[in-house]
Amino acid sequence: MSETHTAKKKADIFSKAFNFTKADEVKALGLYPYFKPLTETDGTVVVIEGRKVIMAGSNNYLGLTNDERLIEAAQGAITRYGTGCTGSRYLNGTLDLHLELEEKLAKYMQKESCVLFSTGYQTNEGAIQTIAQRNDEIFSDKDNHACIVVGTLVSNAKTYRFAHNDMDQLRKMLDRSNPEAGKIIVSDGVFSMSGQLANVPELVKIAKEYGARLYLDDAHAIGVIGEGGRGSASVFGLNDDVDLISGTFSKSFASLGGFLVGDRPVIEYIRHNSPAHIFSASMPPANAATVLKALEILQTEPWRLERLEYISNYMRKGLSKLGFNVWTSSTPIIPVVIGDMMSCFQFWKDLFEAGVYANAVVPPAVPAGQSLIRTSYSATHTDDQLDAILEAFHTIGVKHGIIDKNGQSLVE
Ligand code: PMP
Repeated sequence: MSETHTAKKKADIFSKAFNFTKADEVKALGLYPYFKPLTETDGTVVVIEGRKVIMAGSNNYLGLTNDERLIEAAQGAITRYGTGCTGSRYLNGTLDLHLELEEKLAKYMQKESCVLFSTGYQTNEGAIQTIAQRNDEIFSDKDNHACIVVGTLVSNAKTYRFAHNDMDQLRKMLDRSNPEAGKIIVSDGVFSMSGQLANVPELVKIAKEYGARLYLDDAHAIGVIGEGGRGSASVFGLNDDVDLISGTFSKSFASLGGFLVGDRPVIEYIRHNSPAHIFSASMPPANAATVLKALEILQTEPWRLERLEYISNYMRKGLSKLGFNVWTSSTPIIPVVIGDMMSCFQFWKDLFEAGVYANAVVPPAVPAGQSLIRTSYSATHTDDQLDAILEAFHTIGVKHGIIDKNGQSLVE
């Protein structure tokens, strides 16, 4: 072995893994909040480590994951088509169910055409990579979901990342950009950690002014907000002004998969050119059938969206009134800012022991010192469950010195 080879051997590519001790350190303190297996669930109540807790951290916005009608639809599809498609949509993996779903989603979203992907992640990564190529330019919000970031990285386009929701900076970047380049602005419609709505009216205006296309990732918006649950642009009556809108089936639709809607030529181009679409197996039959049923329920049971909106407002007001900082959410995602990472883990543990499961979110997902408990709600949460969640937050917030008994915040 040459000397260079010996030297190279020292730089073991696995060394980062061998040196990764963070998770073990938190586990040793008994505060590790991740990868907890659920052994039972009815949607709002789950069993974790033998403890029955209220689920306040799921993206099951319409409360459909345990709905008998969805379960029946999934079982029926398995009986008819089997358990998997064993191929990509391009080749042997297209079912009549996929075509029916694409047609119904396009109609629901009032767009010409729709293409399905096997996850929401693949939808954004795959679509952005395909539509933005060499000599094109992407303008992406810094808080966009990881799958958008990866999509921009694997595309050959020049990418500008503007500060979160900073429309002035976006304009400045566009001012400096190449006037000859094809341009696309990409933003989450609702930001996944903060529950904050994008400034869609301004994004539409800017896109038109600069001749850019606009792409919204509405994973947390379709089936959640807007007219008939049509997402972030429809809150402002602007669906027609957004060129591409993506959604996921892993949240409101209680399944797995994703979709993109837009004008027919653009969707056909992505359908025929996106590696994530062409080289990955299609959504399993049960998943597609589940979404078809969920879409029907979304349109025929408007009480779910109404209840969800009521719950979002009730919990946002309730948590703020207790003295918590809930940032700028206007959706069923309501973050509760705790502060440093270890305090957040301790808060999480106390909350869990008090009978509430929510998600601990720490850097790099949020800025340092802004670790938070991300709560999220379902249309099927009962009033009693909501009050129990507030009660637990109150008790633990006071115990940790984050709020006082009179509803005052004790942190910056
Ligand atoms: N976009 C956003 C904004 C998300 O929050 C997520 C997942 N949390 C995704 C896309 C990916 O969706 P999926 O989990 O269905 O792959």
